[in-house]
Parts: sequence; C-alpha cells; structure tokens
Amino acid sequence: MKSNSCPLVALIGRPNVGKSTLFNRITRRRDAIVDPTPGVTRDRHYAQASWEEYAFMLVDTGGIEEVDGPDTDQFSDHIRTQALQAVEEADVILLLLDGRQGVLPGDHEIVNLLRRAKKEIFFVVNKIDSPEIETELLTPFWELGVPELWALSGDHGYGFRTLMEALAEKLGASEAPPELPEGTIRLAFLGRPNVGKSSMVNAIMGQERMVVSDISGTTRDSVDTLLSRDQYTYLLIDTAGIRRKGKTKDKLEKFSILKALKALSRCDIAVVVIDAEEGITEQDTKVIGYTQDHGRALLILINKWDLIQDDKKKQDWLLEDVRLATNFIPFAPVFRVSAKTGSGIKRIFPEVGKIHRQFHQRFSTSALNRLLEAATLHHEPPMYRGRRLKLYYTTQLDSAPPTFVVIANFPKGIHFSYQRYLTNRFREGLGLDRIPVRLFFRERSGRSKR
Ligand code: GDP
Ligand code: GDP
Repeated sequence: MKSNSCPLVALIGRPNVGKSTLFNRITRRRDAIVDPTPGVTRDRHYAQASWEEYAFMLVDTGGIEEVDGPDTDQFSDHIRTQALQAVEEADVILLLLDGRQGVLPGDHEIVNLLRRAKKEIFFVVNKIDSPEIETELLTPFWELGVPELWALSGDHGYGFRTLMEALAEKLGASEAPPELPEGTIRLAFLGRPNVGKSSMVNAIMGQERMVVSDISGTTRDSVDTLLSRDQYTYLLIDTAGIRRKGKTKDKLEKFSILKALKALSRCDIAVVVIDAEEGITEQDTKVIGYTQDHGRALLILINKWDLIQDDKKKQDWLLEDVRLATNFIPFAPVFRVSAKTGSGIKRIFPEVGKIHRQFHQRFSTSALNRLLEAATLHHEPPMYRGRRLKLYYTTQLDSAPPTFVVIANFPKGIHFSYQRYLTNRFREGLGLDRIPVRLFFRERSGRSKR
C-alpha cells in the first residue's frame, strides 16, 4: 500500500454471526503473495483489501480482541469492547447481526452505542441466503430503529456486491489525506503506552537543523508532523499523540492494535519503541510481527537507556532478549537511545536514510540474473522427486519492500532452506542488509498455480 492513508473498516458482531466468513469473502479476492519470512505472526484477523479502486484495511475486531487485554467470557462485555474500540479507531463499521437468530436483547444496546458515535456504520443482517427469505428475516430488525439495513449472505454472496459498492462509495467520499512532498520518508512510532513514543518524537523535533512544518488535516488517530532536514522530508506519525489532549490520569491506557495497524499502513519505516527498564514484552514482539506482516522496514529503539546505563547485567539481558525476540528478522537495526537525555538520537536519521534507500531500491533484471546464476552455481537446488530443480530467471516485482520472483520448473519442490539460502544471497549481493526482502518462486508458463 503506497497511498498516504488507508481507511480502516472494522467488522464487529457477536460470535457466530458470520464475521470471519465475510472477512474471507472480502479479502480472498486479493491474490496475496505468500510471505516467505519465517516466524512472522500470521494473524488472519486483519488484511488489506480493496473494492474497485478503494483500498482499505479490514479488521475483524472480534478476532483480535484478546490482544488488547484480559478476555472476558461475558458475551455482552465482549461485543461492547469491540464496539468501543471500533468507534474510536475505525472509519467505517460493519455491524453484523444474525438474521437467523433474529433480534437479541443485547442488539439494542450495541446499536445505541454505535448510533451515538456518529461514524459511518452499516447495520448488516447476515445469513439471508436468498432473496425469498429477505423480507421475513430482515423485517424484525427494523425495531432497532436504524435508518438503513443491509441484507447479506456472507456465505453465499447474496447482497454482497450491493454492500461493497455502498462501502466503496463511503470510502470514496471520505476526506482525502493531505499531499506529502515527493519522496517523504514516513516513519510510524509504535509501541506500548509509556515507552516514550511522544517523548521521542519531541526529542527528534528539537534536534538541530530540523525544520518542523505545519501539517494540516492531522488524522484522528495519530499526530502527524512533517520535518525537513538537509534535502529530506520526514513524516513522523506519533500513534500516542492524540490522547495527550484529553489525558486521563486514572484510566490505564491500553495498547491499541487498530491504531498500530492503521499507522503501519501509512508508513515506510516502522519505529518500534521498547522500554529499556521494562524489557521486551510479548506485546512488543507482536507489534514487531505486525510490522513484518505488512512488509514494513523496521527500526527498533530501546528507549530509556539512561535508566539502565550503569547496570551492565541488565543491559546484557535486555540485548539478549531483544536478539532472541527478533531472530527471525536479524536485519532490523536496534538502537539504544534516551529521549530524555537525547543520547543516541542523532544516529537515528543517518540510519533511517539508509533503510529508506534500501527499501525503495530497484535493480536491473540483468544484475539480478547474474546474481541468481552465481548463487545456483555455488549451491545447486536439490532434486525434487528425482528431477533436477531448475531456476530459469528472476526479476524484481516491486519495491518497499524489494520483492523478487524466481521462475522455476517446480516451485513447490523448493525447500524452505533453499529459499532462505537464495534470499540471503540476494541480500548480500544487492546490499540489502537492513530491510525485509521477499523472494518467491513461480512456474514458468501461464498463470501461477497455487
Ligand atoms: P464469527 O464468529 O462471527 O466470525 O462467525 P463465522 O464466520 O465463523 O460463522 C459462524 C457460523 O455461521 C458458521 O457455521 C458459518 O458457516 C455460518 N455462516 C456465516 N455466514 C453465513 C451466511 O451468510 N449464511 C448462513 N446460513 N450461515 C452463515
Ligand atoms: P508514550 O506513551 O509512548 O508516548 O510515552 P511518553 O513519551 O508519554 O513517555 C512516558 C513516560 O516516560 C514519561 O513520563 C516520559 O517522561 C518518560 N520517558 C520517556 N522517554 C524517556 C527516557 O528516555 N528516559 C527516561 N528516564 N524517561 C523517559
């Protein structure tokens, strides 16, 4: 996704109303490139999707809820949490209701909660599998007092196109993001509450030679700042920024996955901030996984280093923990910094420059093929069912991240270890040591088969 903004569409609803069925129907149209990065979290509850020319991020809020805190079995709490989260973060909400079950007492509450939110909401009655039963199954839902109801069968497809067209229309009508200067390097600051994201953004802004420009149309869910230094422009996306305005002391702030996902869809480089004193937590690891699901470049900042600067033992533990947690992405640079004292911050920008250059780099097909030839000469692909695997040629499909396809006779027969070998050779040969690189195999003729 290369646009500046990507609206977030949240699916909410009770368990078993058909959220994941609809989720799959919406997302499976995308013929996604299978990510060969090992160890990456494969959370299937969110995905980039599109309808006609409108791209959006689709999130099944019911599925990711447990990430956000202790789960509760209480059904009404469950959906209320989803709804509140969606109201806060999503641009469009699809509330799924179960046409076969009819209106349940809890539905009123949830509809009222949503109606107050003044968001774009689609009230969708699902499991209406054919037009003949529409009237019968839909009618009872008018008692909810909503302006419009959408009949749908997520399973069979009835009503699907109509719903998606209406959704696309809403997405098209939403406010266009402000234009960024050509070549702007977009950095999203992610991490748990209180790790120091905002402090870091402020420390960066306060640096010498850094010119802060005004950016109009700051998004609801994060604060954007445009900076320039030398000939470069940077967009800093501070996912912690907004809450500053209505800071509530007594309420413990929760980490918001939705907010993180949304910021990720708008950035080139994800800057994951970790608290040196608290160490790396499961949630940090999860966020790091998300950055790779999205194919983002990644920079890890261990902040508050000042707090452990005299504790050599703790430093060693911490660095080892970070190393272990990121061993599936050894390319990600890790910096020790302090937003408070400013130490280490000067080094961030030269690094960001290198990461960005690599992330967007393009290579000629001839250079890539020379590399492929040398790599296969050095280490031939193994046999597959008694036949020699042949790698014919390679080309770069995309940048950000650099993505390569290798045409082969039996793509399925290529073992993961050989794929890793080749990816590493490409990395070395192309000087891509700081960013994720994707390499996959495809059959020679016709369309690729799955
Ligand atoms: P979720 O818990 O909300 O994600 O619900 P699922 O998508 O897992 O669906 C729950 C059950 O409802 C499954 O058995 C689905 O096959 C069924 N289901 C989902 N959509 C439809 C539909 O449009 N029509 C019918 N008849 N069943 C559906
Ligand atoms: P955010 O929620 O991630 O944006 O975190 P904040 O920027 O609000 O910082 C949370 C707390 O950590 C504040 O009290 C900061 O003063 C403190 N803090 C941030 N960075 C540092 C640092 O490098 N060292 C120390 N000692 N404290 C820091």
